[in-house]
Amino acid sequence: MTQDSPSPAPTSSRGVDPDARPTTRAVHVGLAPDPTTGAVAPSISLSTTFERTSEGALRGAFGYGRDGHPNRLALEQAVASLEGGEVAACFASGLAAIDAVLRALPAGARVVAPSDVYHGTRQLLVEHHPSLETTFVDQTDLAALRAALAGGAELLMIETPSNPALDVTDILLAVGLAHAAGALCAVDNTWMTPIFQRPIELGADLVIHSSTKYFGGHSDVSGGAVVAAREDEMFARIRAVQTHAGASAAPFDCWLIRRGLQTLDCRLRAQTQTAGEIARHFHGHPRLEAVLYPGLEDHPGHHTSIRQASGFGAMLSLCVRGDRAETTAVAGRCRLFTRATSLGGVESLIEQRVLVEGDDSPTPPNLLRLSIGLEHVDDLVGDLERALGG
Ligand code: PLP
Repeated sequence: MTQDSPSPAPTSSRGVDPDARPTTRAVHVGLAPDPTTGAVAPSISLSTTFERTSEGALRGAFGYGRDGHPNRLALEQAVASLEGGEVAACFASGLAAIDAVLRALPAGARVVAPSDVYHGTRQLLVEHHPSLETTFVDQTDLAALRAALAGGAELLMIETPSNPALDVTDILLAVGLAHAAGALCAVDNTWMTPIFQRPIELGADLVIHSSTKYFGGHSDVSGGAVVAAREDEMFARIRAVQTHAGASAAPFDCWLIRRGLQTLDCRLRAQTQTAGEIARHFHGHPRLEAVLYPGLEDHPGHHTSIRQASGFGAMLSLCVRGDRAETTAVAGRCRLFTRATSLGGVESLIEQRVLVEGDDSPTPPNLLRLSIGLEHVDDLVGDLERALGG
C-alpha cells in the first residue's frame, strides 16, 4: 500500500454465513444490495480516485484506483473465501499474478517448477527471472522432486493436473517435501478451481489462478489472482507488486470475473460431466494413441485425483495415431470445436499445443488439447468422430 491509500476495510456481504458452502459463497461473498439504490447487481465503479474529507482523511476504504477499488475488493474477498485463504490479490492476467509471486521472492531464490508447466510460466521463469535458480522436474516422480528440493529451495510451484499432459501431482506429499526443504508451496489451481480442489486445505501457502479461464468463464476477460493462506510478509510483498508496479485488475474486468464466479459451480460441473463422457467414448479409439484424462481409471493419477479433488475437470488431451501434419489435419476438420488457445469458456476449444509452444516444446506433436464447453455431448462427440474419421 502507498501512503495515499490504506488497506481497504473488508465490506461485509449480507446474509452469508462464513461456513456456507462454496456454491453459496460464490454467489454472495463481497456483494450486497446497494445501500442507496437497492440495486441487487453490483455497480461498476470506474473512478480512479476517491474524495477526501475537509481534514484530508480518506472518506472510505479507497484512495486511488491502482491501490484498490470496490470491484477489485469484492472479487478478492470472493476468491479468498472460495479457496479458504485469508486474503487474495487480483491482477490483470494469470501471468501477472505468477510474476508477482516470483518478484516477491528474494534475489537468487531457488524455485522448483513442473517439467511440463504451462509454457507461459516457463517463459516467465527462464526469460524474465534469470536471477532465480529454477529447476524443472517431473513432479509425479516423488523421488525426483525430493532430489530437486534436497539442497533447499524458496518456492515449489505445482500445477495439477498439468498443462497439457494432464499429469497429477500429489499436493499433500509435495507440500510436505516443500516445507521440509524450507520452501513455500504455490499451486496453480486454474484448471480445477476451488469448486473441485482447495490446495490451502492440503497445506499449500499460495494458490494462483488465471481468472481468464473458468472464473470468467466466457472467453471475454483477462485476469489473475493470488490467494494466500496467511496475510503475512510474503503476501505483503505480493500486494506491493500489485499496487506499486501497477499490475492491478481493472474495475470492469473484476466485475465480469466476479459475475463469472456466480455460475462457476454449475458451469464446471456440466463441463466436467461432458469431458468425462468424451474421454470414455474415445478411450481405446483406433485413431488415437491415448486419451489423457485423470477421470479414466487407467490414468496414473486417477486415485490421487480422487483423494485430493472432488471432480476431474473439463480439460483433456487426445494423442492422435499419426504425425504432426495428420494431427493438424484432424483439428482442421473440426467444425464445432473452435481452433483457438485458452480454455475454461462456454465454447469448446481444440488446440495442437506444439503449434503454440514452439519447436522446443516438450509436448508431443500429436497431442490435441481440448477445453470442453457447454455444448451437448453428442454434438461434440460427433464433431470429433468426423474429424478423426478423415
Ligand atoms: N496458468 C495456467 C495453468 C494457464 O493455463 C494459463 C494460461 O493459459 C496461465 C496460468 C496464464 O494465464 P493468463 O493467460 O491469464 O495470463
